[in-house]
Amino acid sequence: MSAIGVERLSVTLDGSLIVDGVDLDVAEGEWVTVIGPNGAGKSTALRAIGGLLPAGGAIRWHGRPIGELNRRERARTVATVLQSPVIPPAIRVFDYVLLGRTPYIKPLGRESAGDLAAADEALTALDLMPFAMRRLDTLSGGERQRVFLARALAQGAGILLLDEPTSALDIGHQQEVLELVDRLRAERGLTVLATMHDLTTAGEYADRMVLLAGGRVVAAGTPAEVLTESNLAEHYRVRVRIIPGEHGPLVVAVRG
Ligand code: ADP
Ligand code: MG
Repeated sequence: MSAIGVERLSVTLDGSLIVDGVDLDVAEGEWVTVIGPNGAGKSTALRAIGGLLPAGGAIRWHGRPIGELNRRERARTVATVLQSPVIPPAIRVFDYVLLGRTPYIKPLGRESAGDLAAADEALTALDLMPFAMRRLDTLSGGERQRVFLARALAQGAGILLLDEPTSALDIGHQQEVLELVDRLRAERGLTVLATMHDLTTAGEYADRMVLLAGGRVVAAGTPAEVLTESNLAEHYRVRVRIIPGEHGPLVVAVRG
């Protein structure tokens, strides 16, 4: 059974059709990355698949239509990291990460030792312990991005939806975070659906890729099938050279 099953997904925002008939399947434990030019509808599609936007078509998580799941069940199943999450004012890093445990805490109840341990573990995994007591709004963009991911990991969901999770990170932290996600995927059998900007990096970590343009899927397959000179020329209007790499195609833009 697929972890994520999407059929004829459509999203209309302010009267415009932004996502137009997208079909997408992500197997348990698989990593699929959505690429596409600015404005293609990647973030919108991801939010809809995460149940955060009203959408047409069918969305299933582990075979269940998401409409059948209540809020707590949803939060235990899927953790979403948005591009720019809203931060509660003056919140400390530790408390923000602990918010990921909300679906496990009884209404009006207090967090358990297990919840605190999950938050600790996520902070440690992302090298954030030195920041635990800092106010989140005093962190740099890259540090904050790691905190958002820590909260999602603390949530303990089997499906991670990541919208450009490394866009604010330097190249070292980028690799560190993606390696961590990949390791957790292997250790815990996580399923990952991400959007990414950097095409070479996207190809190195994904089992499969989907190229979105104008709200539609225009190419899908392995990184080598999707990252071709003609696909990128057509949909990004860029001349690229594709160089075979150890973990996937290396995409280099060249002057036209
Ligand atoms: P991507 O993540 O691929 O860059 P988005 O999903 O953020 O693209 O946006 C896709 C398109 O939808 C863009 O043209 C954007 O301007 C438009 N859009 C996003 N949010 C809204 C909204 N609330 N109302 C109208 N249009 C929107
Ligand atoms: Mg986006």
